[in-house]
Amino acid sequence: MSVETNEILSSYGTTVFEVMSRLAIENEAVNLGQGFPDEDGPEDIRQIAAEGLVSGPNQYPPMMGHPDLRQAVAEHNLRFYGLEINWQKEVLVTSGATEALADCCLALLNPGDEVILIEPLYDCYLPLVERAGATPIPIRITPPEWKLDRDALEAAFSDKTKFILLNSPMNPAGKVFNENDLSFIASLVIKHDCIALCDEVYEHIFFEKHQHKPLMTFEGMRDRCIRIGSAGKSFSLTGWKVGYITAPEMLLATITKSHQFLTFTTPPNLQIAVAAGLRKDVSYFNDLAIEMQQKRDYLKAGLEKLGFSVIECEGTYFLTVDISSMSSGMNDVDFCKDMTVNGGVAAVPVSAFYKNDAPDHFIRCCFCKKYDVLEEALRRLARYLNKHEDQVIEAAKAHERS
Ligand code: PMP
Ligand code: GLN
Repeated sequence: MSVETNEILSSYGTTVFEVMSRLAIENEAVNLGQGFPDEDGPEDIRQIAAEGLVSGPNQYPPMMGHPDLRQAVAEHNLRFYGLEINWQKEVLVTSGATEALADCCLALLNPGDEVILIEPLYDCYLPLVERAGATPIPIRITPPEWKLDRDALEAAFSDKTKFILLNSPMNPAGKVFNENDLSFIASLVIKHDCIALCDEVYEHIFFEKHQHKPLMTFEGMRDRCIRIGSAGKSFSLTGWKVGYITAPEMLLATITKSHQFLTFTTPPNLQIAVAAGLRKDVSYFNDLAIEMQQKRDYLKAGLEKLGFSVIECEGTYFLTVDISSMSSGMNDVDFCKDMTVNGGVAAVPVSAFYKNDAPDHFIRCCFCKKYDVLEEALRRLARYLNKHEDQVIEAAKAHERS
């Protein structure tokens, strides 16, 4: 039988996260590839989910989301960003940020529309935009500074631009767009009378002087932004796949149309538990960022001692690592495979985050892992690269949590 399947989705392989995780399992490698913490998030949240599962109800919650979670999302917007949100009309609960992104692309895009994307980009953006019939217009930020090229961005806008998809803090670059960049982006969105789809799943994972400020808080942007969050990242519960969209009523009404035909709803016990999470004290969110920052520093120090050049990371779970002087001429894809199979440590090739003409000498290493897992990864890499194991661990431990 020959069935002609969708030509856009058929043209994509299996996602790099799954490919590298499978290879890591096959080779019993330490997995610094796919971005997930290896410690589950707060027990009190998980307890609420467990109790909700046993006591019920376990039937369809309202299509737009459990009222408790929608209210909690609105409260969270007000508490952290001063955004006044109508929880009944401006919040939608989704099965993860991925569904939220799909809902938005399917609801907003028509053939002929253009979507501005910033490379290196998260893997589902291109297929979702293309499958929705629009044309991706990629621009790129370049390491080591990951500076926004304002001329290129300005030139990417046209009268066909439907939205810019902005991910800040940005996976995999670890960039947190600063106030100046955001003001500039806002001015272009307003000038071209379009909108911004803001993937803010790492909204609570930023470091040092860097701060996350939603584009929606900028002047003139309240009704031009769609803001996406994820419990996976904010509560270290990536397997739950609970996401939430905050958007002006006029846009959310249409986005809800795609949601109703895609998933319709999300497990009720998880929604109630995430609502409690969003109401946690500010210290919980601060501690999350501090813990991630310490792990970042630990892994960075170890990788640098091994001889890698590591690019500054302002937020997210990820370090971008330059392998040029360490990979014996292998490109990022081959190096990641070799490192997994022969070194017992998996990472993700950064070329997977580009549409065309990708740089081929960067890999992404995830640091949201237990310290002993990070230590084991560094020990294995030291042996793989013939480096002095104890010196590498000593350098990393200089940054360990006291
Ligand atoms: N956007 C970015 C930038 C991500 O890194 C991820 C992966 N967590 C997602 C969206 C998808 O999030 P979720 O697991 O909630 O679907
Ligand atoms: N967001 C995670 C990452 O960047 C992966 C999520 C997934 O595997 N789909 O690694």
